[in-house]
Amino acid sequence: MAKQAQVMVITPHPDDAELGVAGTVAHWVAEGKNVIYVVCTNGDKGASDPNTKPDELTRIREQEQLAAAKLLGVIDVIFLRYPDQTLEDIPEFRKDIVRQIRICRPETVATTDPYCRYFWHRDHRITGQVTLDAVFPYARDHLTYPDLLKEGLQPHKVREVLLWGTEEPNYRSNITDTFDIKIAALRCHKSQVEDFPDLEQRLRQWAKEMAKGENFELAEAFHQVEIWW
Ligand SMILES: [Zn+2]
Repeated sequence: MAKQAQVMVITPHPDDAELGVAGTVAHWVAEGKNVIYVVCTNGDKGASDPNTKPDELTRIREQEQLAAAKLLGVIDVIFLRYPDQTLEDIPEFRKDIVRQIRICRPETVATTDPYCRYFWHRDHRITGQVTLDAVFPYARDHLTYPDLLKEGLQPHKVREVLLWGTEEPNYRSNITDTFDIKIAALRCHKSQVEDFPDLEQRLRQWAKEMAKGENFELAEAFHQVEIWW
C-alpha cells in the first residue's frame, strides 16, 4: 500500500535533494511530518571514470539514496528510473509525477527551480517544469486523467511548492541545527562526494550566504509558491 505524506520531494537525481533540501527535510521529520522522495532518474551517468558500468552505478546510487533517506527519516523513496540526462517535458513523465502526487497527497512539494538561467542541468530544468505543471493543473482536475480516476486516484490540490537552486529566493529555512545531518546525508552519496574537496566547509559557506539578512546562521533558500486556487 502506497504511503501518504505531508511533503513530497521530487528530485532529478539521487543526491540533489540532499544538496537542496535535506536540512529542511530533517526539520519536517522532527515536526512529525511524513516526507516521501520521488527520484526521477537513475543517475547512471554521474561518474567521471569512463570504465564505470551504468547498471552498477544505478544500483549503487539507489542504495546511497536509500541510506540518505533513512538517515533523514524519510518514510519512502520512489524511483521512477528514467535514464540520467534523458528527461523531457513529455506526457508520460508528467503523468508519472501526477500519479505520485495523487497517491501521496502532499501539502508541500519541493523540487528544483526550472528557471535558472544559463548552465543548469537539463534534468533539473525539466523536473522543475514538469512538477509545476503536474501540481497545477494536472493533479488537481477531475477530467484530466480518467484512467487514474478509475484506479482510484482522486484529484489533489498541493498547497505550496518550494523550489531549490533558485535565483530568486523568497523563503529561507533555518538549518543551523540540522546542518550536520544534511552533511551526513550527503556523505551517504559516496560515489558522488567522496572526492569532493572540503565538502562540509563549502556547504557551510554556501548555507551562510543563503542565511544573509536572517537572524540565524545557516539556511536553505527556496522560491516559495503558495497555491490558493
Ligand atoms: Zn542533479
